Amino acid sequence: MNKLGTVKHLHSGKVRDLYETDDGLLLMVASDRMSAYDYVLEPGIPDKGEILTRLSLWWFDQLKDVVPNHVVSADVPAEFAGRGILCRRLDMVPVECVARGYLTGGGLAEYRSDGAVSGVKLPPGLEDGSRLPEPIFTPSTKAPIGEHDEPMTFDQVVEKSGAEVAEQLRRITLDVYTRGAEIALERGIILADTKIELGWDADGVLTLGDEVLTPDSSRFWPRDLWEPGRTQPSFDKQFVRDWLTSESGWDRNSGEAPPPLSDKIVERTRQRYIEAFERLTGSAFRSVSLPSH
Ligand code: ATP
Ligand code: MG
Repeated sequence: MNKLGTVKHLHSGKVRDLYETDDGLLLMVASDRMSAYDYVLEPGIPDKGEILTRLSLWWFDQLKDVVPNHVVSADVPAEFAGRGILCRRLDMVPVECVARGYLTGGGLAEYRSDGAVSGVKLPPGLEDGSRLPEPIFTPSTKAPIGEHDEPMTFDQVVEKSGAEVAEQLRRITLDVYTRGAEIALERGIILADTKIELGWDADGVLTLGDEVLTPDSSRFWPRDLWEPGRTQPSFDKQFVRDWLTSESGWDRNSGEAPPPLSDKIVERTRQRYIEAFERLTGSAFRSVSLPSH
């Protein structure tokens, strides 16, 4: 097992904890915390951090010919085993890079009010779950803690980052989506949309960071049950979002924290995450990590 020396805690986001090692690497540790609508839900989902970490590692490898990534090693001290990745520290681009191949969620809401998503005009008559004529780049802002990400147009990305970088972000995001969607489809899963984060490495090369193509950052739908015109069954946190905004009785606009998840919701969510992992990677999920805290 790798000995890292002392690790210094840098930041805890809603889901992940970041540390710095003595030699300047980043240790990114995924917890079992689950966020939805910008709240951290209680309780966590057992094994979620490990599922996301292992699925990301699998995808980084699948995508290594499409884009370089920040992974250095998954060989980490026992207390982080399974859920920690050592990575190169990147200078993150302040844009959430989203690609959509299908219309739903926030994109559908924008389409219904403007006929466009992040400024990309779409044909009339699309419904919840419709396949788009081609995948589109629909970036959003990276909001500070407590604020919501807002859609950005491509021109706004150009203003923020320059035309050349904006083009690169769009190309890499669409390439990752297209390759990911192809691989997922072979395994019976529709990749409806996904969000990636890119940053510059020490040599100024745009590099894939954060997590990639996980059920936290993507929408996964079982291919055989896809039927536009309704909410799609999914292997991601849509299940929890739907429960929160319907059966739980919680009012999203009340400003109050959501109610605790029941044991049944926790277990069903866990099963969905495991199913996404197993269908995609083709291997059985067996936990190696210690419970997170
Ligand atoms: P939240 O999810 O609570 O809105 P967050 O996205 O900042 O906040 P996490 O996703 O829990 O929190 O933590 C991951 C953080 O690490 C993100 O801010 C992400 O941009 C950053 N990050 C990911 N990979 C790298 C990297 N290689 N170098 C530097 N920062 C990174
Ligand atoms: Mg994040």
